[in-house]
Amino acid sequence: MKHPKILIVGGGLAGIGCARELNILGEKNFILLSKDLGGRAPRSDRTIPRATFYARTEYKNMWPFLKLGRKADIWKGRLVTKEKIWRPLFIAFRHPVLSVRFYFITRRFDACHTRFMSRCETMSQKQAMEADPYLLDLYKQSATDFLRKNSLVELQNELIGTLVRVTRFIRIEEANAFLMLWIWLILVKNGRECTIDIRKMVEGFLPSIIDDEARSIIDTGNGWLVNGDIECDVLVMATPINITKMLLGDSSLPEQKATKVFSSIVKGKPRAIYSQGRYNVLPAEEKDVVVVQNEDGTYLFCSTQEKYNLEKYFETFEVVERKNWDPAGFFGDRLIEAKRSERLYVIGDYHFPGLESAYLTGIQAARSISKG
Ligand SMILES: Cc1cc2nc3c(=O)[nH]c(=O)nc-3n(C[C@H](O)[C@H](O)[C@H](O)COP(=O)(O)OP(=O)(O)OC[C@H]3O[C@@H](n4cnc5c(N)ncnc54)[C@H](O)[C@@H]3O)c2cc1C
Repeated sequence: MKHPKILIVGGGLAGIGCARELNILGEKNFILLSKDLGGRAPRSDRTIPRATFYARTEYKNMWPFLKLGRKADIWKGRLVTKEKIWRPLFIAFRHPVLSVRFYFITRRFDACHTRFMSRCETMSQKQAMEADPYLLDLYKQSATDFLRKNSLVELQNELIGTLVRVTRFIRIEEANAFLMLWIWLILVKNGRECTIDIRKMVEGFLPSIIDDEARSIIDTGNGWLVNGDIECDVLVMATPINITKMLLGDSSLPEQKATKVFSSIVKGKPRAIYSQGRYNVLPAEEKDVVVVQNEDGTYLFCSTQEKYNLEKYFETFEVVERKNWDPAGFFGDRLIEAKRSERLYVIGDYHFPGLESAYLTGIQAARSISKG
């Protein structure tokens, strides 16, 4: 039987952030229990579908561990429909006033979001969101309502929605306004393709990591019993929220909507229509999402359905690697408090996907635990 004071279940960025911060704060009596360290983060020491993950300049806690690649040049994207090809720059030029207005809205969001991220160092995401009525309203409001209120409907599908779809794999009708603007920060925050040096992140507390999964969690009244052989006082659940809910059997945790993404790295020759732009986005009615030209000459293909037909997009091809993400990201509109009780924290990217924001939920939980 093991008896750590703190047990963190799940070693994605949220769990690693918590463990790393506890270690920095001198709280050594913890265990991080996880299968697949790094989780959905793009580990530098593994092949991953390139051109899928973008870091931005505000990722300041993650920064020392990032390996940066190409700039995310959204103007190299194209929406490929049966009728025609839409180029974002062309749409922006056709609606100059609306484009400038949207740019300033993104700038305002950027300022609020920067304050929000600083607050997330000492408050839970829910508290930080509730501290800013503008952000809270955006989180509770659909993206399409927001665009209508701001007379931006003409930019909705071909421009704004295309970036939402290609980065979050959802239709703009499914996104809330917070998530929509968060995605567009890539434009003002110098988005760059990235991978993360997970080994460097866990240096310093490797002996505290157990490579296993939690199968059963029992509340003993004054602590927790995990898998029948780990007893702890404080439990930090850093698994995806649907798994956390299932493991805790906690019906008070809300359901959060999630996407699934199925991707392949392909070597070969794309059909002419998909060979010109860097990001070839398919229309929102389709289940397939995008064909991206990678830096190394391969292609990344993403779909929201498990079975897809690459022949539609490639004349000749060989699949180098397949990767399925389930869940890929959450996009609900429920706010969840991270500190459920003195003995239980629930952290991760359940409010919106994000490398830095998930990591911060872990840092904040560690600080809260350490304060006692
Ligand atoms: C395709 C894709 C593209 C993305 N692009 C971007 C991007 O461009 N920019 C950006 O900022 N973010 C992006 N994200 C989002 C970002 O990757 C995630 O928000 C973040 O990595 C989530 O971290 P997490 O720790 O909350 O969850 P996870 O990474 O899912 O970590 C959960 C951990 O728990 C483990 N686990 C699960 N079940 C158990 C169990 N029973 N016992 C023990 N351990 C368990 C898992 O193996 C995993 O290690 C993208 C995500 C995907 C999938």
